[in-house]
Amino acid sequence: MTNQEIFEEACQYIPGGVNSPVRAFKSVGEIPVFAKKGDKAHLFGEDGVEYIDYICSWGPLILGHNHPVVQNAIIEASQLGTSFGLPTKLEVAMAKLIVDSYQGIEMVRMVNSGTEATMSALRVARGFTGRNKIIKFEGNYHGHSDGLLVKTGSGALTFNLPTSPGIPQEIISQTIICKYNDLSSVIAAVEQNKKDIAAIILEPVAANMGIVPATKEFLTGLRTLCDQNGIVLIFDEVITGFRVSYHSCPDYLGVIPDMVCFGKIIGGGLPVGAYGGKKEIMSLVSPQGPVYQAGTLSGNPLAMSVGLAQLSYLNNHPDVYEYINKAANYLENGIKTILSTLSLDYQVHRCQSLLTLFFTNKPITTFEDVQTCNTEMYALFFREMLRQGILIAPSQFEAWFVSAAHSQIDLDNTLNAIKKALVKCHDALVD
Ligand SMILES: *Cc1c(COP(=O)(O)O)cnc(C)c1O
Repeated sequence: MTNQEIFEEACQYIPGGVNSPVRAFKSVGEIPVFAKKGDKAHLFGEDGVEYIDYICSWGPLILGHNHPVVQNAIIEASQLGTSFGLPTKLEVAMAKLIVDSYQGIEMVRMVNSGTEATMSALRVARGFTGRNKIIKFEGNYHGHSDGLLVKTGSGALTFNLPTSPGIPQEIISQTIICKYNDLSSVIAAVEQNKKDIAAIILEPVAANMGIVPATKEFLTGLRTLCDQNGIVLIFDEVITGFRVSYHSCPDYLGVIPDMVCFGKIIGGGLPVGAYGGKKEIMSLVSPQGPVYQAGTLSGNPLAMSVGLAQLSYLNNHPDVYEYINKAANYLENGIKTILSTLSLDYQVHRCQSLLTLFFTNKPITTFEDVQTCNTEMYALFFREMLRQGILIAPSQFEAWFVSAAHSQIDLDNTLNAIKKALVKCHDALVD
């Protein structure tokens, strides 16, 4: 069956034919690729086409598709049962692994998605401080819970839906939006809402408006501001956790939050999220404390087994990080070399193994900068890549994910395709 045929049927039964908006490929003028199977860095579509995959499930697949360690973990765990509704030793091992890996975090609660993690972390921060308001940043994405779906990134940004119908104004009014990498906007917001701000939540490396790292001054400034005003600093590391380093952003950037949210990599491709923090904050979570949060499938044994297998592998193989960072750097340099000969406006941003090619001449540090990008040019680029069997992010405002399974041949084939695609972009501009 062709993607077109499956998509037409999908659209009859599923809104937009997909279960998450960016999968629709709408903003790049395409229809979705329906995935059939994955093997290492390659994805096979239902249409029989083989792709080199840089979506990699949007981050979880740091070891590539179907890594034997991950595959064996799920086979073994499935033989023991799929869910118990009782605690398991696996959950203890997972919590301990996260605590051991992450500076400043003493307790962890497992949930089922990144959305659930950020939503729950904010509830705990509010319970802890006895305050209502939160600060988030333009272009940062923290999942789709009501209070966080304001000026958000990812699919909402791709489809130009900064906020959504269905969310009461009362809820949105508790969310204050500040400018990413602009400390003065945060200082002003804290000043205007003295003693009413429970938490500041951010992606320490923004990955949902394309890759835009926070500056060192911005992060250390936020840390100081939170300390001075009794505000809980929350790092949303759903993408960056165990990605930028095994020890995540405190190690990579040198700033330690009060709470952290995880997802993606810690589930190894199964639906998982987690939030954690210092003991004095996390002891407020039910049943130890009064802040309620629960989940029938939270800490699911299959998800824990797969997550633990992937994280333990990463812990024992630091060379994985060396490899993926070098591989992404190889792509970055290759792209820059190609573009140096073409008259296209661009910025290449790389943070470790995360990469974005922005089509703009403006250096990017803020959400406003990101919005200067030529999304039509990106769409053309995407389609030319797809035609050559390379799956990159189907949006200007998302990252490309390099995995340990991308071989040197994959990288060279990718650069050859990028060269052809960029020449097409260049020619389109000249015409
Ligand atoms: C993906 C993502 C989320 C949401 O996680 P889901 O598992 O999709 O609910 C939250 N924050 C960040 C930074 C993300 O990239």
